[in-house]
Amino acid sequence: PRSTLFPYRRSSDLLKTPVAIIKGYAATLSRPDARWDRKTIQDNLGVIEEEADRLNALIQNLLTASKLQAQGDLSLTKTEVLVDELAELAVERFTSQTNKHKFKLKFQSPYPMIYADEARLRQVIDNLLSNAVKYSPDGGIIEVGGYATTTTATFYVRDSGVGLSEEDQRHIFDRFYRVDSKLSSKTQGSGLGLYLSKAIVQAHGGTIEVKSAPNRGSTFFVHLPRV
Ligand code: ADP
Repeated sequence: PRSTLFPYRRSSDLLKTPVAIIKGYAATLSRPDARWDRKTIQDNLGVIEEEADRLNALIQNLLTASKLQAQGDLSLTKTEVLVDELAELAVERFTSQTNKHKFKLKFQSPYPMIYADEARLRQVIDNLLSNAVKYSPDGGIIEVGGYATTTTATFYVRDSGVGLSEEDQRHIFDRFYRVDSKLSSKTQGSGLGLYLSKAIVQAHGGTIEVKSAPNRGSTFFVHLPRV
């Protein structure tokens, strides 16, 4: 039978690109006839690490999508989670991947601990941060923050990128939906990130929403129940 793991037509192509890049850079670095200087080695290893992170995130998304497809919902393993600390760690990881963007953390202190599936929430944060970088090609500030009420803990990711029309805002959480634009066609993506982020947030009893306008950047808000 055909694989049910990666049931999506484009997914094999999406996986091949980072693998090809990693292999290419590794092969170049290990050429026996070449003597690379320290800086070249460092730069190339940086690309390898970055592509491995990207590949990892993509595999996570494809696995989650196939699980969701097979089971109809997502099972969660809940523990005490500090979303502000997760966000800080994610920002550290993304900072090394871009020099065009400046990251700013703005969590209310103290920010409440919540019961949630940490790995799944990390996936949501990674998807939102990755999009914030991808869809603000001129760089700028990416702000990650959070605040809480007695019943809800909210976190958000704000970019100053290309933004979204009202029409696109209605569809971006649909499976495989990608905005039809020059930037999207140049940018790697599966159209699964926001679909899965929404499924994960909903499995927690929360909601996700976007506030945006074309060329005015976008802010994605995730509202999670406390307790
Ligand atoms: P993709 O893998 O294509 O990035 P997503 O599900 O994460 O898939 O996002 C769906 C589409 O929504 C993207 O293709 C992009 O057009 C749009 N989008 C997502 N995040 C942003 C953002 N921060 N700014 C502008 N457009 C965005």
